[in-house]
Amino acid sequence: MHKNFKGIEKTVFGRGCFSQLGEIVEEQRNQNDRFMLYLVDNYFKGKEFEKQIPAKSSDVVTFFDVDPEEPTTTHIDNLRDRIKNSKGIPAAVIGIGGGSIMDLAKAVSLMFTNEGSSTKYQGLNLIKKPGIYHIGVPTISGTGAEVSMTAVLTGPEKKLGLKCEWTVFNQVVLDPDLIATVPRDKWFYTGMDTYIHCIESRDGILNNAYSSSYGNQALALCRDIYLGDKSGQTKENDEKLMVASLMGGMSLTYSEVGIVHAMSYGLSKILGEKHCYANCLAFQHLSDYYPAGVKEFTEMTKKHNIQLPKGISKKWSEETITAMANVSIKLEHMWNHAIGLDWKSKITLDTVKDLFRRL
Ligand code: NAD
Ligand code: ZN
Repeated sequence: MHKNFKGIEKTVFGRGCFSQLGEIVEEQRNQNDRFMLYLVDNYFKGKEFEKQIPAKSSDVVTFFDVDPEEPTTTHIDNLRDRIKNSKGIPAAVIGIGGGSIMDLAKAVSLMFTNEGSSTKYQGLNLIKKPGIYHIGVPTISGTGAEVSMTAVLTGPEKKLGLKCEWTVFNQVVLDPDLIATVPRDKWFYTGMDTYIHCIESRDGILNNAYSSSYGNQALALCRDIYLGDKSGQTKENDEKLMVASLMGGMSLTYSEVGIVHAMSYGLSKILGEKHCYANCLAFQHLSDYYPAGVKEFTEMTKKHNIQLPKGISKKWSEETITAMANVSIKLEHMWNHAIGLDWKSKITLDTVKDLFRRL
């Protein structure tokens, strides 16, 4: 079966386009209980930018600190219950932030219309009803969460997305000015998520002309941003990175991610490592699987003076390594794509444990 997916309905791109958000949300004002729910990264609290959020007095603006942990099913359930009990159902949910906020906005939009805990819906096509109108405004680029059909949540049992057509944003607002303040290390790790999406999407059995066209374009943009003569955090590169993130997301959607993401999920679930950083931790050691990608990635780390720790696995117990390998090997679709249909004859739990021991 070939993948047949719904895309974002509307996209506005360009420096300063955040000023159009007010107009965009007002088109939804008459829906549900006629208030807007803004979910905003805590970084912006008290900053000049906060004043530009076009919220009216009846709207709710909630700030989230995404740093202690990535979005959880408990965050989503509590938020939904609190808003529903106090104000009802919003006309639209607007997420302003990075991948964590994109996932929160997508998930809560679905959970306003689907009963019970979000843990019930972690998986593919388990959601029963469309969510409410949701708008994504990325402020850090790379994960592709603005375009993907999943809202990744960590639950009591698994780190897995609410994945279905209705997860996809109705509207995204891509204003490259919003990513200008991202600290250099996060700019690097999150941007590398795009790079790794494209490499993993390309180097596997599900690669195809559609996914690789997006992937090749995103890779060319990444090379300009991280390796070119004018590499670095410039206005021009911020524009490129925003587009690369979206295209990298499209590339993996129509192909698949691979070993890096399978390992990254293990590192996030068991050790709480952040997605993009965890990818970098793993990717540096996978040159036998992704030779060209790891070589170029190493050049990028050198160019931007990024020091990734090595030898961290020495501190891990056998139990920790086994737990991470168990999370990882269950992501069968990723191993299947990366290694091939006969992957089970080549990859065992011990192989995956050895991969973690490389870190
Ligand atoms: P994030 O949302 O976790 O934010 C990272 C950091 O950047 C935070 O400290 C945040 O406060 C800060 N930040 C954001 N915008 C800023 C700005 N403009 N200026 C200064 N600081 C800013 O980062 P992320 O890497 O984009 O997202 C990671 C999350 O995305 C993980 O939870 C991961 O599971 C998820 N993810 C989702 C998908 C998907 O398809 N849904 C794909 C990949 C990753
Ligand atoms: Zn990723």
